[in-house]
Amino acid sequence: MRVKYTLKRLHDVTRALSLRRRFDRHDTWSREQLERHQREKLSSLVSYAVQHSSFYKKLYAHIDTKREVNLHDLPPISKATLMDNFDSLVTDPRLKLSELQAHIGQLTRDDPYYLGEYRVLATSGSTGLKGVFVSNRKEWRTTIAEYLRCAAFIGMKPRLPNRWKVAQIAAGSPVHVSYRASVSSDVGQFKVKRIDATTGMANIVTALNAFQPDIVSGYPSMASLLAVEQMEGRLLIHPRTIGTGGEMLTEDMKRKMREAWGITPHDIYGLTEAGAYLGSECSFHRGMHVFEDLVIAEVVDERNRAVPDGVSGARLLITNLFNFTQPLIRYEVSDMISMAAEPCPCGRPFRTIAVMEGRSDDMIYLQGIAGGEFAVHPLNFHGPLEAFDEIKEYQFVQEWKGIDVFIVLRQGVSADQMADRVKKKLKEKLESLGARCPELRIRPVERMERDPQTMGKLKHVQSNSKPR
Ligand SMILES: [Zn+2]
Repeated sequence: MRVKYTLKRLHDVTRALSLRRRFDRHDTWSREQLERHQREKLSSLVSYAVQHSSFYKKLYAHIDTKREVNLHDLPPISKATLMDNFDSLVTDPRLKLSELQAHIGQLTRDDPYYLGEYRVLATSGSTGLKGVFVSNRKEWRTTIAEYLRCAAFIGMKPRLPNRWKVAQIAAGSPVHVSYRASVSSDVGQFKVKRIDATTGMANIVTALNAFQPDIVSGYPSMASLLAVEQMEGRLLIHPRTIGTGGEMLTEDMKRKMREAWGITPHDIYGLTEAGAYLGSECSFHRGMHVFEDLVIAEVVDERNRAVPDGVSGARLLITNLFNFTQPLIRYEVSDMISMAAEPCPCGRPFRTIAVMEGRSDDMIYLQGIAGGEFAVHPLNFHGPLEAFDEIKEYQFVQEWKGIDVFIVLRQGVSADQMADRVKKKLKEKLESLGARCPELRIRPVERMERDPQTMGKLKHVQSNSKPR
């Protein structure tokens, strides 16, 4: 069983490697070539979906799918729609949501393919509703190829015989895509060590010092905490590259990593719905390139109308061009981003993300000075706190009355003094926006708790008091 399992994985990685080499050729495409490729892939996906999924057959009943379809004619679908119609949306009638959920529930590190041919993943549900995503073995190889492509984008093409050592710091959940992709590629290509983000900093530092990774990958908040550990002399590693993803990478975090290791982190856009990885920064660090040969990403406003490059949208519509098992066509993702209006100097035809503002459901609602409710973008909370070098990490939690501001201070910093300064800075910021400053409770803590339920991800700004 074990030998057969390893052979199957080796076979998948070998195929994924050749697929990634094929992707390399797309780097030199023109924008026209890329858009033609998207149209062709979309047509095949739509016609397959209509033939094999009763959900899409009904949804597109009024559209002539025999001709080349216009993307904008297709109605977007939400996660709730996807999950409510799961069994009729997938294109293999043997795939039933209840059975897939049962399969996920008993997954371990060495899971066999479901029915011998399907890979099943779940999203962590940090936005409320848990999603279940399924791909067949061929599609899963594309996901592994995306993982290898991200590594290539950050300058780490596979190396033998001294394999690159990758330390991946996240909470260990085998149903999550980053976990599965790294396990899948941990055969011959990279030597991957997973370190649990929830075990406490001292344990993480010890593990990293012993492993001496070439690549460190993890949440940006975790990587910047490690940078502080390095600067203060407890951590002694010399990574060539740092890959970050899953949370917002701020300027302050980048600065800390540059100071600690002399390198700029590469930001990677993980999105299970897009296979696994929607995009990655290249060596120019001009924002993450979206892998537009594998997905169509539309930046749209609240009414799903396209917004031009350079302008922030309310959400993204994602069309996954390679998953025919569970077609996701104009699928709503709540990330608020803007695409760069200028191409990246590297010459790749893929657009880059100029600004990544977080998820629209992260908005904080306060009273306005002029009355009424006032939406404050989470970005406005980052700036005031990042101005303080004395603060290692922070988190805002809005409660029914007021906001708790948790801060982790560097050694030797007076908590009382900081509390006053932080309050003053935040009040100035919120009032300058036109919001009435709520009660602010500054709470110095030893460390932030990382929740294994969300893969140890730290949500910097969260509200427990959403408007009804
Ligand atoms: Zn580039």
